[in-house]
Amino acid sequence: MVTSAAGNPRLLLRRLRDIMQERTSAQDRLDRIVTLIANNMVAEVCSIYLMRTGGELELFATEGLNKNAVHNARLKKGEGLVGDIALHARPLNLPDAQSHPNFVFLPETGESPFQSLMGVPILRDGLCLGVIVVQNKTRRLYDEEEVEAAQTIAMVLAEMVASGDLVSPNELEETGIRRDKPWRAKGSAIADGVAIGLVVLHEPRVKVERLIAEDPEAERARLDRAVSALRSSVDEMVDHEDMDLLGDTKEVLEAYRMFANDSGWLVRLREAISTGLTAEAAVERVQSETRARLMRHTDPYLRERAHDLDDLANRLLRHLAGLADTAAGAALPDDVVLVARAMGPAELLDYDRTKLKAVALEEGSPTSHVAIVARALGIPLVGRIENLVDQADNGNQIVVDGERGEVHLRPAPDVVTAYRAKLAVMAQREQEYAALRDAPAVTRDGALVALNLNAGLAVDLPHLDETGAAGIGLFRTELPFMITARLPNLKQQTDLYNRVLDVAGERPVVFRTLDLGGDKVLPYMHLDAEENPAMGWRAIRISLDRPALLRYQLRAMIAAAAGRSLNIMFPMIAEVAEFAQARALLDQELKRAAALGQTLPLSVRAGTMVEVPSLGWSLEPLLAIADFISLGTNDLMQFFFASDRGNPRLGDRYDALSPAFLRFIKACVEACRTAKKSIAVCGEMAGRPLEALALMALGITQLSMQPHGIGPVKLAIRSVELAPLRAFLETHLDDPGHSLRADFRALAEQHGAKLG
Ligand code: PEP
Ligand code: MG
Repeated sequence: MVTSAAGNPRLLLRRLRDIMQERTSAQDRLDRIVTLIANNMVAEVCSIYLMRTGGELELFATEGLNKNAVHNARLKKGEGLVGDIALHARPLNLPDAQSHPNFVFLPETGESPFQSLMGVPILRDGLCLGVIVVQNKTRRLYDEEEVEAAQTIAMVLAEMVASGDLVSPNELEETGIRRDKPWRAKGSAIADGVAIGLVVLHEPRVKVERLIAEDPEAERARLDRAVSALRSSVDEMVDHEDMDLLGDTKEVLEAYRMFANDSGWLVRLREAISTGLTAEAAVERVQSETRARLMRHTDPYLRERAHDLDDLANRLLRHLAGLADTAAGAALPDDVVLVARAMGPAELLDYDRTKLKAVALEEGSPTSHVAIVARALGIPLVGRIENLVDQADNGNQIVVDGERGEVHLRPAPDVVTAYRAKLAVMAQREQEYAALRDAPAVTRDGALVALNLNAGLAVDLPHLDETGAAGIGLFRTELPFMITARLPNLKQQTDLYNRVLDVAGERPVVFRTLDLGGDKVLPYMHLDAEENPAMGWRAIRISLDRPALLRYQLRAMIAAAAGRSLNIMFPMIAEVAEFAQARALLDQELKRAAALGQTLPLSVRAGTMVEVPSLGWSLEPLLAIADFISLGTNDLMQFFFASDRGNPRLGDRYDALSPAFLRFIKACVEACRTAKKSIAVCGEMAGRPLEALALMALGITQLSMQPHGIGPVKLAIRSVELAPLRAFLETHLDDPGHSLRADFRALAEQHGAKLG
């Protein structure tokens, strides 16, 4: 048995680099590379097979086999030893290759006299692009350094293949490394809207330019420094009191920590450097091999961990390159579509708002905090797109369809044209709406309604002027609590409410006190798990049981409204006594402010959301002590019909325009009329044109909605005659059917309604 005189791997790499720098043909380069490797490893044969379109491995160059076989000898993935290496994406080292069960003889290569074989896959991003094989006539077990050296060369070759240096990129389709083909994927629609823009990877991907090291000692030192910086940053993330702000789940962060501290990983990285690679190239090589190994598993948990390792390797590369963790501070294009695996609300707010067009994520859910911010910013967000980050490159064109929950990456021209047309129609409509900005929301027969805005974050405030809303009908104060790391203190709350009132000026603002619990969770506040959180310990129930938080909030509102009007609304009131208790807390805080000599608000009105049907049967006593009510139809519908508002299966099951629900609303309107108290609607229903007309026809004169609802609702109102709609509802509320929608719509259109 011959043992090798393994050449100096670093020297080998340097020669390889020299070959790559020469101006010569791709074939000539490959021919010289195989000769170089064969000489260096004292092998009689060295061959390079590359994966062709269609998944066949083709002999591209050989030293030692029959040259006529080049570009003629082919193997399927899995066929023969070369195919076996490609299929399993791992090296083989066989002193007696012919006794291996997968050995096949290719007569055209004339390889029969060769006994030993060592081969390694050419991997990139965990995908196999080809195989390098060395063979000897004698029985020989190649030593570990030789296998290592071959893997290092394979890594360098992989980069050359991927950059199109060796094979035309068109021949690489099946390897999946081409990121220039259109790619379309469906996920879930999380925030509405459509946008066309350019991909900006939220976590920048480092392109490894330098593969071969000049000074391995220096590379090792760089690696050690970067690994220790990575470990501290991962520790910091795990210990961060609010992981949601970073968008990552605890499970993922724990996996990062585990991998970052895995000594085997560090050993493999160091070994790769000792073969002559730069620290960056070593990270890529080890990552590619690990990924290939993990991706062979069918266990979804392990495949998911491959993702975590990718993230971690990227983080390490960023440490090596001295790059920031996110692209927020980088120079950005004018139409940014952020692409990330996950993202936190504060991270999204770090980006220049004027440039953000959309967000596309591999994770994300409708109730995630990043979704709340995306909606406030008025940009579409699509989530749950598998493999998105892998597929996308910075600068790729991308369409985000927040209505269908789809993304089109590198879209074909006809897709772009179709979406441009859609955007043009939307822009045209926006123009129509913008033209109505200062016009009153009045029907053709003179019925007037106030169109207000639902808001909750400082980033919502510009919408007031943009939409021409009459005021803020619902300010959801829990949102700022949800997207910060800790409970906002009294000053921070006062400052925010002050700012809201400043921006609103003469326009009225209704602040709703904290509506926590259910799907609105504070990361820093522990709530026990409940079987039915939507009907659980939430909103006013928490506030009354633990009044300190509510009193603080009321204090901040009173201070902010000094010398101005203050409207406060309590959420999820189910019985009059709860409202009385909440109002008593407000009175107590007002007294306290007076005793301290503070300037008090000019006027204070206290009202309640009607979200629990029981309150609809308590309106007379309620209105004796409440100044106004606002129907929160999102929760009201879910409790009225016992139908979870977050369950997509039930989304269309019950209709807000059903006779029963409209009768309920009508009863509320009448009770308010009798009590001479005001009534508004602030659920999603208010922002839909047809529903808005129905609400008006029932006597509602105040609607509060998302910013993009105002234009379409105003257009519908200004184009219609209300009297016939009123008459219709007067006679149809006792109908037995599922919904009045179809008839009501037909009638509204008949009387001029433009419903978009
Ligand atoms: C509602 O329930 O209709 C409402 C406006 O409140 P939220 O959507 O914040 O629960
Ligand atoms: Mg609600």
